Amino acid sequence: MSEMVQTVPAEFRCQTLTYADFKQLEDVVKATALLSRNRNWTRMPTLVTDDATLLVKPKQQYVASKLKAYDGKLYGVTWSTRNVEGYQMWLNPKMTPKRMVMTTLHELCHAMVATGTSHDESFRKLLTRAMYHWNGLTDAEGDISKFGRGLIRKYTVRRANNYLEDRYGYETVQEYNVRIEDENHRALTMAYKEREALRTTLRTTFGWNI
Ligand SMILES: [Zn+2]
Repeated sequence: MSEMVQTVPAEFRCQTLTYADFKQLEDVVKATALLSRNRNWTRMPTLVTDDATLLVKPKQQYVASKLKAYDGKLYGVTWSTRNVEGYQMWLNPKMTPKRMVMTTLHELCHAMVATGTSHDESFRKLLTRAMYHWNGLTDAEGDISKFGRGLIRKYTVRRANNYLEDRYGYETVQEYNVRIEDENHRALTMAYKEREALRTTLRTTFGWNI
């Protein structure tokens, strides 16, 4: 078991998201990660901001170059380091309130999964489960099944009829679609089964009065 290193105290510097809203989202993602025994669930932010100028120079440059490359459609970035109990997050201030919630959930999941895993299955599963719980807790509208499927399609590395990713092998469109349904089903089944445990965790570990 490796030592966790503590970093500088947390700073929350957002104009377009309240700390209370951020904290609620963070609690839900942390509780979801805790339930699946994700060892990074204790990670705390050292900086969360929607003002890129507060980031250190290399991170500022990264955000600027990606914003340019994606024509402004970069919603958030999260940086974490292996065995370090801190993460930094940048959120695009030009987001609708709904997208801000979706993006913050997405970025928090990056903070809680292992560093460097990007949008792999462990990330997608955590995000789908967290989204399921968030929607349940806030009575939000939205089809989580559709959300989960879209997430897998967007980030899956092995694409149908594609030989480019040789190391992942080849799969037909049929096989690809079956795989998506299977992965999505696993995440949704898990979320459904842990529904009550999540509420208990929010009460006992995060002090929620629900
Ligand atoms: Zn991402």
